Amino acid sequence: MIIYKTKEETELIRQSSLLVNDTIAEVARHIKPGVSTLYLNDLAEAYIREHGAIPSFKNYHGFPFACCISVNDAVVHGFPTKDLLKQGDIVSLDVGVVKNGFHGDSAYTFALKDASAEVKDLLRITKESLYKGIEKAVAGNRVGDISFAIQEHTERLHGYGVVRELVGHGLGRDLHEDPQVPNYGKRGSGTKLQEGIVIAIEPMINLGKRNVYTEKDGWTIRTKDGKASAHYEHNVYVGKDKADILSSFQSIEQAEIANPSLESGFY
Ligand code: MG
Ligand code: MG
Repeated sequence: MIIYKTKEETELIRQSSLLVNDTIAEVARHIKPGVSTLYLNDLAEAYIREHGAIPSFKNYHGFPFACCISVNDAVVHGFPTKDLLKQGDIVSLDVGVVKNGFHGDSAYTFALKDASAEVKDLLRITKESLYKGIEKAVAGNRVGDISFAIQEHTERLHGYGVVRELVGHGLGRDLHEDPQVPNYGKRGSGTKLQEGIVIAIEPMINLGKRNVYTEKDGWTIRTKDGKASAHYEHNVYVGKDKADILSSFQSIEQAEIANPSLESGFY
């Protein structure tokens, strides 16, 4: 069942989404070789709580951390660990917060200095595909139009693997609401989009094949072929003529450019 949002509710989601993005930006200032993803997780949790919010993911179906931090071949749902980041790694940060009763949920993948050209291409094209999907989040279209746009840009045009097992979703008072928003599908298929629908669009795209497995920790999803995977996520209000992006990468991209340990400028 889809829960349609009022303008007021949508603004509360926007506030939560922007806090998520500021949290990711804060963490981005600290990404460098030699720091652990557990350290980054703890920074994020402190920042979220200092801003009067609660990390959505903590204890969600038993997930034990504030953030999902997925390095290299980890696609999503990565457990923060004491392992240290090194040059050339990519690191996906997926953060959710709940504030004033509404969730925000956004993700961004960073490349540490000396990441390979093919991995930077993967990041750029995955981010591009997110915006191509968002363009379709307009009343009168269907979910499949978003799905098709993402799959077209990543799988058909660039030969990447589109993960099938995990999808985008509605969000609001619950972190995951209807409808599901797959990153693959047919144009003109699926749920009809109407004003008042708020969805998280989140391409999860593999450099190699689409196949994934779940690690022994029960959460971390990895590519079967061990190749890199990228993840970007925005929260979007379905508008009458144009999608309204409730989250923003602006503060994140500024932090990315300002951090000498991160690749930037390849988008
Ligand atoms: Mg997320
Ligand atoms: Mg999500």
